[in-house]
Amino acid sequence: MSFGAAASAHRGRRPAPDALCPCGRRAFAACCGPVLDGVPAETPEDLMRSRYTAFALADARHLADTWWPATRPDDVSVDDGTSWLGLEVLRSETTPDGRTGRVAFRARWRDTATGESRLLEEDSRFLRRAGRWYYADAL
Ligand SMILES: [Zn+2]
Repeated sequence: MSFGAAASAHRGRRPAPDALCPCGRRAFAACCGPVLDGVPAETPEDLMRSRYTAFALADARHLADTWWPATRPDDVSVDDGTSWLGLEVLRSETTPDGRTGRVAFRARWRDTATGESRLLEEDSRFLRRAGRWYYADAL
């Protein structure tokens, strides 16, 4: 084990560049891949999708990096007992000043211990500072 190996484990798994992105929009390398590698998301929806994908790939580092500092938990971790099955974005909007956004979505997941499928519905708020979007909280 080296620091390098620890860091890459923290970054989670990565699908093949031409595989469908876990968020379901298009190929990973043209979808959430660059955002997971640190390229700023252009819209709140792009950031929301990259965070869903980070949950699916167990990339706790991306979740921590894109969480608004005031609302970020002390320990951001990814639950191994959750298998993410699909994402549907219902609505997304950005205020005219480009500093706040909202994304309503549904995400399906399965509890790997019980095999039970569940639906998460959320209306998330995002804030943009210094050219980067951050997840703030859910309404
Ligand atoms: Zn994606």
